[in-house]
Amino acid sequence: MPNKQVSRVIIEKVGSDLRAKVESIMATLAPRTFAGAKVLIKPNMVGPSVPELGHTTHPELVRELVRSCLDRNGKVSVGDNPGGINRSSRNVARITGILEASEGCFTPLSDGVVEKTGLETGFQLVISRAILEADYIINVPVFKTHSGMMISGALKNTFGYVAGACKARLHVQARDAVTFAKTICDVFQVRPPDLNILDAITVIEGNGPCHGGRLREVGKILAGIDALAQDAVMARMMGVYPEILPVQKEALVRGLGVLDEKKIEIRGELVPIPDFKMPVTFYVSRLDEKARAEFRKLYPSRMMETRIEIKPERNEEKCVLCGDCALNCPAEAMTLEPEFQISDACIACYCCVELCPEGAMEVPDVEVFRHY
Ligand code: SF4
Ligand code: SF4
Repeated sequence: MPNKQVSRVIIEKVGSDLRAKVESIMATLAPRTFAGAKVLIKPNMVGPSVPELGHTTHPELVRELVRSCLDRNGKVSVGDNPGGINRSSRNVARITGILEASEGCFTPLSDGVVEKTGLETGFQLVISRAILEADYIINVPVFKTHSGMMISGALKNTFGYVAGACKARLHVQARDAVTFAKTICDVFQVRPPDLNILDAITVIEGNGPCHGGRLREVGKILAGIDALAQDAVMARMMGVYPEILPVQKEALVRGLGVLDEKKIEIRGELVPIPDFKMPVTFYVSRLDEKARAEFRKLYPSRMMETRIEIKPERNEEKCVLCGDCALNCPAEAMTLEPEFQISDACIACYCCVELCPEGAMEVPDVEVFRHY
């Protein structure tokens, strides 16, 4: 956990020189040698998406990190716990290209688990043993929006420490955004990463973190020891004040890093991405009471909920009725028979949006919010 007053975030432009840029970052921020230590590379492997979709960490970035860590004599492993129940992490790694990029170092993280208790929430956290046994963790999130938590960066990526069905249980226990932000910080604190390397080569804007978002080519990687500072820089690139984001606000209160731009030394150029779109839930969460009243007049009442306030919808043309969403709905709010329905038990967690393999579950994109 950073205890210095100033945290450094490196922003590198990358192209065909990815290896050289990764090496430069490692030379600046990582130990010169790992001397046989266990090094865990933790990418974002949210689901079985091909690399072109941009949902998961780009395999070439993983490949360069594996090589660099092997060169430093580390005992390297690569792994993550994908979202959803009963999803094989090896299969997800294969589809995302991360299995091949891991060059024999892939490890299924769910093979061994340890129970921990969340520092603030008191929730039971089922954490992959490999996370706790690692001597050095390199967290490799993707630069993207998140309809639930607004951004998915370094802090949020550590939620992948949680194994199996525990993720779904935590969604139900932490029904509101504030409690879920506390839960994410609890998980982060189980084992803060030693280094964070953010994949901002192709990023997701709009209703991320998966199918609902849109791709933007940014061609950068960001790196730093302080996960919160890195998230803060990412938010500023999105054109957002990091102080208003639920997870980052909570992390600041807990002293998990720095957020204030005066306390972040940036090496490289922080250039906001022009006209970057946040999730529609972000705009709703910013509405004052008057605007909310207008919103209620314009949109069906069932879209107004207590959590992030918009229920997901199914795109019938894309849906193949596979049932994956209902299987993975933490609130058991979805039924397929006799017809597809989302009940009032929905907690607007957006797991179904994130996990539907066809991209058929959507957060309704309501352009009118963007005018508020
Ligand atoms: S997971 Fe997607 S495709 Fe499958 S039933 Fe649900 S909405 Fe339809
Ligand atoms: S229907 Fe979707 S958004 Fe609602 S609780 Fe289930 S998974 Fe979460």
